[in-house]
Amino acid sequence: MSYNKQLDAAKKAASLAARLCQVSLLRLLSPFSRIGLLKGSQAIVSFILEKEFPSVSFSLVAEEDSGDLRKEESKETLHRITELVNETLSGDEISDISPLSEEDILIAIDKGKSEGGPRGQHWVLDPIDGTKGFLRGDQYAIALALLDEGKVVLGVLACPNLPLGSVAFHDRSNPGNEVGCLFFAQVDAGTYMQSLDGSSPTKVHVSPTDNPEEASFFESFEAAHSMHDLTSMIARKLGVKAPPVRIDSQAKYGALSRGDGAIYLRFPHKGYREKIWDHAAGYIVVAEAGGIAADASGNPLDFSRGRYLDLDTGIIVTNQKLMPSLLKAVQESIKEKISSL
Ligand SMILES: [Mg+2]
Repeated sequence: MSYNKQLDAAKKAASLAARLCQVSLLRLLSPFSRIGLLKGSQAIVSFILEKEFPSVSFSLVAEEDSGDLRKEESKETLHRITELVNETLSGDEISDISPLSEEDILIAIDKGKSEGGPRGQHWVLDPIDGTKGFLRGDQYAIALALLDEGKVVLGVLACPNLPLGSVAFHDRSNPGNEVGCLFFAQVDAGTYMQSLDGSSPTKVHVSPTDNPEEASFFESFEAAHSMHDLTSMIARKLGVKAPPVRIDSQAKYGALSRGDGAIYLRFPHKGYREKIWDHAAGYIVVAEAGGIAADASGNPLDFSRGRYLDLDTGIIVTNQKLMPSLLKAVQESIKEKISSL
């Protein structure tokens, strides 16, 4: 079965949402309005997908709801977001769209309340993954995937600040490295990358290395999102020489899919429940590029259980060759960490 039509719609929706985010950064919106923009991004994606695939069974599992935008003190933010959404939509070639009202925006956002699950098709969206990176001017991603009968069948990652060249050794002061990447993958059809402003796509592959000494690894920028002490223990055991590359959001999955690094480790603090929108798009982008994402026990990630992943301990991503030794290092490190407590 081909998902070409859905993939085209997903690429368009994520690219427009990315444009909305880029424009807003230039406009120097207040921090509150920028946070509100998560919802503008969700409204755009939701609106475009439902327009392309109108159906009573339309289902979107997404991070945001309209709750705080409906409050009296958010009036101005809602107004500005509505303006920005309309401006972004009218800049596209879709000519038959009449401007959305504030109520249309709120309704589009609230379409994202679906619970997902193992039956039927569900879109899965993180409207701005890596909010802190977005606010800092660093990495963030619009992450959109489609589940069919519990499996991820396509994924799109729009990464407006990711350099088109390697990020692992990227010199931030180098102005020559153009930014803005769009990764997309469809089940059994590979992973491709193009620039956000629309170059022709090139097929990407994960790093082929089987030597941990030459493998660099990615982890969350925010220590609150992953235990850096545990990941450095794992890297040491495995023999990784290079220091970790810390970036926000699922841009890490994109970078890994084109071989910038060979490993991504994520170990949230105890009690944290992983949400499907934080991994679904990244998961298939890496898998179709020849990599694997698993939990700390080596089980494949299961996106069929609703809004949460409910996995064992952490998420590890690498290529096929490194996975056995990575898994061993992960399990030994977890044991040591537990016994040292
Ligand atoms: Mg997120």
